[in-house]
Formats: sequence, structure tokens, C-alpha cells
Amino acid sequence: MKLGALKNHFESELSDTYPKEEIQSFFTLLLDYFLNYSRIDSVTRASETIANDEVEKFNETIIRLQRHEPIQYIIGETEFFGFPFFVNEHTLVPRPETEELVLWVLSEMKGRESQRILDIGTGSGCIAVSIAKNEPQSEVMALDISAKALEVARKNAERNDVAVTYHLHDILSEPLTYGNFDIIVSNPPYVRELEKAQMNPNVLEYEPDAALFVPDGDPLVFYRAIARQAKDCLNLGGFLFFEINEYLGKEMSSLLSSLGYRDIVVQKDMFGKDRMIKCTHHGSTE
Ligand code: GLN
Repeated sequence: MKLGALKNHFESELSDTYPKEEIQSFFTLLLDYFLNYSRIDSVTRASETIANDEVEKFNETIIRLQRHEPIQYIIGETEFFGFPFFVNEHTLVPRPETEELVLWVLSEMKGRESQRILDIGTGSGCIAVSIAKNEPQSEVMALDISAKALEVARKNAERNDVAVTYHLHDILSEPLTYGNFDIIVSNPPYVRELEKAQMNPNVLEYEPDAALFVPDGDPLVFYRAIARQAKDCLNLGGFLFFEINEYLGKEMSSLLSSLGYRDIVVQKDMFGKDRMIKCTHHGSTE
């Protein structure tokens, strides 16, 4: 099959499932992944014949995409904060909103001496690794409950040539024994079961439930556990940063203020939704 025909076939097979621009960006990613061809090659080499076994790889991928499998899992990697990250079914696909959280953390770190940072629920390691990349003087530690996610996170630190110390840790049942952090950051699970109805099949059917969902009756369970323990692990004047559920900004502010945190700021994401919060630890009592 010629490359031009393959492209048309790919587009028509997926046109019922995805918008045109998205299909084109899938094709560009797959061209690079399977054939090492650039986007321009799909135009300049349109009349080139593609071997059957290569065409077969595209056909298999079409089926996976029709079933809404995220393209990032199919090719096994994605980009976050301009850096390459391995991802698989044990980690979330990093979201652009989380890049904004990293940006916020980095803006707080700017101009300070080397700092100790803790990322709780690191998943693919995207937050920890991006911070370590941008602030090479900092000491970055990251925790996750999933050994399989930590395997991916370790590869991502290696791939991006940074040192991050990873530990297997269940924040809901194990006390935090690490300390003296200047910043603790977390993007814990925060989607309520009741929000499932608004979610897409690529998320619901493929991404790890444990990284996403919290009970309707206690959606802040991770934040409470982290914020309580963080007071013993943060230096005075240290910061706590969270990515949050867009509907729970007020509840988050109350929680943090009831625990004695100060300078609480909620920030919106690029979509205008309450998406992150930061506060400081001044050592006050509850
Ligand atoms: N923002 C993610 C989503 O909407 C959820 C991330 C999380 O639960 N921490 O799928």
C-alpha cells in the first residue's frame, strides 16, 4: 500500500471516533513511531510503497484507537513539560493542567538555594522529574503506592538524566517518616465516582482507577492525610501544593485552613477551572 493511501485509510477508519485534527496528530505520531518518518514525509513520500508488515501495524493500531485506547499507551510514551516520559496502564497519562502545577511550583523555587522537594503519588514521575530537570540543585523524593508505577517513574528519571529518590509508600496507612522538605506537592486521586458519567472511555476503560477515583462521601481523603502529615515533614515557611478537583476548591481551602495552613491560594487552570492550591506551613497549631 502507498503511504498516501495508508493515510487516507487511517483517517477514514477513525473518522467516526475522533475529530479530524486528532486523527492527523495520531497519524503523525505513528509515522514517527513505526517508520521514523516526519510529518512532512507523509506528503513528500506519499507515493512510496509501505511494506505489508508495516501496514499491519497501522491496522492493529486503528483497532486499538477505535476502542479508545490512549495513543500514549499504544506508543508507550508522551511529552510533559517538554520532556519525554514513558507511560503505561499503571500510570495516568500526564495532563496539561499538571504542567501548570509544575510551573507554579517552579516559580516558588526560583532564586532559592537548593531545596528538598517531595512528590506524593508520583505515578509516571512527571512532576518530580520535571522539577528535578528545571532545578538541578534540588533534592527530589517521590512516593507512590504502586510498585508498577514506580518502575515507570524510575525509568523516567533515568531517561531524563535526573536523580529522584523513589519509595513505595501508602500515604493513607503509613506515616511519613521523611522530613525537612521545603515543598510537598501532590496530584492525588480526586475524581468522585459521581463524576464518572462525564468522563470519556479512554480514561474510564484504560487509565488506572486507583490513580483517579475517590469515594463520593470522602473526596478529600488523600488531601487530608497528606496535609495532616505534611506539617511534621515541611520546614517552617515551607509550601504545600496540590492539584485539585475543579468543584472542590472551597472545600480544599477550608480543609487547609482548619489544619492551620496559611496564605492559601487557589489557582485556575487554562480552562478557567479551580485546579490547584498552595499554602504555607507556619508551624501554628490546629
Ligand atoms: N484530571 C484528571 C482527570 O480528569 C484526574 C487526575 C487525578 O485524579 N489526580 O482525569
